[in-house]
Amino acid sequence: MTALTDRVAIVTGASSGIGRATARLFAREGARVVAAGRRRDELESLAAAIRAEGGEVAVLAGDVREEEHAAALVALALERFGGLDVAFNNAGAVGEMASVPALSLAAWREAIEVNLTSAFLAARHQVPALVARGGGSLIFTSSFVGYTVGMPGMGAYAAAKAGLIGLTQTLAAELGAQGVRVNALLPGGTDTPGARGSVGTPESRAFVEGLHALKRMAAPEEIARSALYLASEASSFTTGTALLADGGVSITRT
Ligand code: NAP
Repeated sequence: MTALTDRVAIVTGASSGIGRATARLFAREGARVVAAGRRRDELESLAAAIRAEGGEVAVLAGDVREEEHAAALVALALERFGGLDVAFNNAGAVGEMASVPALSLAAWREAIEVNLTSAFLAARHQVPALVARGGGSLIFTSSFVGYTVGMPGMGAYAAAKAGLIGLTQTLAAELGAQGVRVNALLPGGTDTPGARGSVGTPESRAFVEGLHALKRMAAPEEIARSALYLASEASSFTTGTALLADGGVSITRT
């Protein structure tokens, strides 16, 4: 018996980084996975890797800013796998970096839509399916940025990621009586294609690594294991939390 035997899980942002590693881990742990992202080729290569290990997966390409995509993901989980138990709403992007006065309104709106409105749209469609199942686990990928650390140039991203924690707490309070747990996962610096833009040089990478107590960045698979914890019965009494998996970036001053 594995941690997610017979569970059905949606994973967004599954075409890269943390989401890709989590989709693979969830499948290995017995989940039937609905994997999403915009890049169809990357989703197909993920599906091939999961199936090669004997896992079950369905993929759907789409944009998390669109409500139709949120609805279609839930419909696919219900049609293909008969229900929904877990949703890891993980897609996100830092977007344009600029000090707040220099940030364009368009860039602000973009970051809020990709990182926060997407979560609202996802929850709108996932909650009824989770409740119909008699309970489940809803997870949002937030960040230490905007929660424990202020980073210059990341105002919109930080606001969106902090907003996810408020949404998480509200949903946890609304859904606890129906057996649905809702948690935010806050990774520290994680070595993904998305993060490599900001740690492109050896100097910038060393700087970011040095911010963490563990003096390194996470591998995506390490964050996936924290997502598995929140998805599985191992966290059965955990709801409404902001779970740091951040290598100590929040407590380091040296
Ligand atoms: P990544 O490698 O760039 O992956 C981001 C994923 O999100 C991709 O699968 C991407 O898919 C998807 N995505 C982005 N915009 C989308 C959109 N509009 N519609 C649908 N899918 C979209 O980045 P990552 O580092 O794994 O990031 C995963 C999550 O962790 C994000 O929410 C990020 O903010 C958060 N996070 C990352 C770090 C870090 O250091 N890496 C730290 C804290 C939090 P497509 O490109 O195929 O659409």
